[in-house]
Amino acid sequence: MYEFAVTPAVTNIRRRGVTITSVASASLGEELELEPGDRVIKVNGRTVRDYLDFRFQTSGETELTFEVRKKSGEDWELLIERGEGEDFGLSFEQIVPRQCANECIFCFCKGNPEDARPSLFIRDEDIRLSFLYGNYTTLTSITEDEMQRIIEQRLSPQYVSVHATDLEVRAYLLGIEKERADISEKLARLLDAGIDIHAQVVLCPAINDGEILRRTIFQLANHYPRVSSVAIVPLGLTRYNTDERLTPVTRDFCRQTIKELKVIQLQLRERLGTTFAFLGDEIYLKAGSRVPGRKHYGDYPQIEDGIGMVRSFCNQFSSLLKKLDQKAHPDTRQFNGTIMTGTLFAPVLREQITKLNNRFGTRLHVAEVENDYFGGDVSVAGLLTGSDFVKAKYKIQGDFLIIPRTTLKSDEEVMLDGMSLAQLKEKLGVPVFPFDMRAFSKWISSAGLDHMIPEMVVQPNAATLRA
Ligand code: SF4
Repeated sequence: MYEFAVTPAVTNIRRRGVTITSVASASLGEELELEPGDRVIKVNGRTVRDYLDFRFQTSGETELTFEVRKKSGEDWELLIERGEGEDFGLSFEQIVPRQCANECIFCFCKGNPEDARPSLFIRDEDIRLSFLYGNYTTLTSITEDEMQRIIEQRLSPQYVSVHATDLEVRAYLLGIEKERADISEKLARLLDAGIDIHAQVVLCPAINDGEILRRTIFQLANHYPRVSSVAIVPLGLTRYNTDERLTPVTRDFCRQTIKELKVIQLQLRERLGTTFAFLGDEIYLKAGSRVPGRKHYGDYPQIEDGIGMVRSFCNQFSSLLKKLDQKAHPDTRQFNGTIMTGTLFAPVLREQITKLNNRFGTRLHVAEVENDYFGGDVSVAGLLTGSDFVKAKYKIQGDFLIIPRTTLKSDEEVMLDGMSLAQLKEKLGVPVFPFDMRAFSKWISSAGLDHMIPEMVVQPNAATLRA
């Protein structure tokens, strides 16, 4: 299992070099006659494993030697002189994620239907993606080479799934033996080397909550500011993950967790001057509580992990409403359509959209959509699928439908169940516009309501798969 699990990383290293996928016109790369399909094998005598290596090894250098394997099979050596800060104009192949060797009892991969999109089964555990996109790793199978790379190339911050500092509990959650679950020395080495860490806890009732959670937070807080924050996100169970060791996250559990965390957060704010340990938005929404205010989140250190997204959205929406006061359009009633979202976020969105409707006469209707595809307690917007939207067709009012952009693949208009946006439009018989909330707020504040619909197009967004 372990050997198999690390194979993709090994394969990637064996291929040597990184493939160029595009060369900008009139760039230095074009001048050097580099082409898509060429591989940069070495820079200044050092092997290049991926585009991060290329970036690191070329950074700040004005005199360089490239060893290039041309797509024709020829080997070139290029001696290059470039101006300070001059870009090569090269784009490279994506990083092939290294995969984990854990058997976490809560792993989302176990909760996927068999026909889910293949990317949902990727168990990525890759320090490069952690640095680039904030993907979490557990550090359980990190190699010496990777440790050195983090330190040498300053791949900071790293996002680490700690789950519990209690070794027995961590090993149990990760489904591995204690020796491998113990990352205390690795963490210490990274922290000593000046690498910043953002930690994550997937909160599983009756396993790593209560006193275990309290100890985890305070032990991590001892390393503040190098350990900069802890995100505490709830276990999510689909109908396919029926592991008896797991207890669903209930409303009462969320309320109790918020109560316990308030005491801890108060102590941490007094001691560190920051909240440090943040609860995921989902916990507040499930509890039926209002999310904390702006100050609680500081500079939103873990917003991509669902920490403070709701607060950020509400605040952006409020400032948007203020700005729109001066831009009111006489024909706003023509904006008659439906916004679909997950059951968890729908009440928050409805409250904001009602304000917009009341003030500007728009007729936007918020419809919550049950997640039938994954089932269980999955209620977040980003995991809705094409079949879920189709089942909720009867809720559509008005002339168009808006769906969350996060339901689509980052680089393709396809949803998690494989349905394309074009197929969805066909099945629903209305124009469908995908967007994300933050972009929506920014967009309508800059463009004005009168340009709102035609310009809503899909933009690639960074998809992050969390360990
Ligand atoms: S939760 Fe993450 S680390 Fe655990 S088994 Fe799944 S992919 Fe691996």
